[in-house]
Amino acid sequence: MTTDQNSLLNLLMLSTPVGAIGSGIGGGVELTLINVAQEMIQRGHNVKIVAPQGSKVKNVPVIEIPGEVQTPAQTQTRDQLIVLPKNSVLGNMWDYARQVQTDYDLIFNIAYDWLPLYLTPFFNIPIAHLISMGSLTDAMDSIIEQVATNFPGTIGVYTSTQAQTFTFADQCRCLGSGIDLSLYQFCAEPGESLAWLGRIAPEKALEDAVAAAQITGIPLKIFGFKQDEEYWQQICQDYSHAPIEYVGFLATEQLQQEVGKCRAILVTPRWVEAFGNVAIEALACGVPVIAYRRGGLTEIVKDGETGFLVEPDSVDGLVNAIKQLDKIDRRACRQQAEIEYSQPAMGDRTEQWFRDILVSFQQTK
Ligand code: UDP
Repeated sequence: MTTDQNSLLNLLMLSTPVGAIGSGIGGGVELTLINVAQEMIQRGHNVKIVAPQGSKVKNVPVIEIPGEVQTPAQTQTRDQLIVLPKNSVLGNMWDYARQVQTDYDLIFNIAYDWLPLYLTPFFNIPIAHLISMGSLTDAMDSIIEQVATNFPGTIGVYTSTQAQTFTFADQCRCLGSGIDLSLYQFCAEPGESLAWLGRIAPEKALEDAVAAAQITGIPLKIFGFKQDEEYWQQICQDYSHAPIEYVGFLATEQLQQEVGKCRAILVTPRWVEAFGNVAIEALACGVPVIAYRRGGLTEIVKDGETGFLVEPDSVDGLVNAIKQLDKIDRRACRQQAEIEYSQPAMGDRTEQWFRDILVSFQQTK
């Protein structure tokens, strides 16, 4: 009986169709999916991930699906129409889900895409949708709202700041995020460098962090997937004398080792960042977070304790915060990650969400 609070669940998890898990194209939601899947397996649940070909997840079975990838939603304008390529991997993933649905109790969807939301009433099992970004297009807002209204409780978000970007904020369930803290080592004695990590794309405003590095003369190490090569080249051209180093897109094990050695990370979103997984990863290594007071970062960073929240789009604000880094105790950073962002804590919130959805689904049957 799946509504029993202790029953083991059969969970089918559908990934983002923008790229393979592990490629970095999907951003932070790739890490969230991996962590949720691993935590649910740890708890004895049966989990399978459905994802684009080439996806690999340690200790979790992955059904790899071929097809053309989807264009990331954050590159699109507000009036963007819904577009699917020929032989769409998104379509193929959901066709697979349709065929095997009777083997599962619930589908967990992390794709920020119209199709899975639209398909919700066509499935015989409930779908829990994790909406990983704030409001971006009218078509997405409208279909998410429709699902929120017709399937109450099935829309999950990272933060309430993210939810506020939608007109139906009160119908969203905040799940936060969490990471496997055992993979992140605390580093008490950092080197001189600052770090910036994330997808290299305009909405992340890497140029502001580079400008701060140029003003202070403090080296900035850059880690992440180059989603927009032209944008990156422009930064290199505009700040040719800045002390920056592009290290690459690193796997968690290596990333945490490198980031741990840095004095702080700079998080400079131009958009309403839904959460900011990079912030909790840095905290877990004992690294303070200097972030714009914008989006999910405002719910993560404890201003003056585990980093600084500065005026959005202010390079001077970043520079001033960098000067005050000595005030931050790195142990407080690690401690915050342990208290608020452990994988089991995130697992509790997510599992309860799944169970609540299953109860409502049984009641409406
Ligand atoms: N990341 C990574 N290797 C790198 C740099 C970044 O794996 O070298 C990952 C990082 O762990 C995080 C993601 O990229 O999970 C960025 O996620 P975030 O939530 O900060 O932003 P998003 O890309 O989702 O907007």
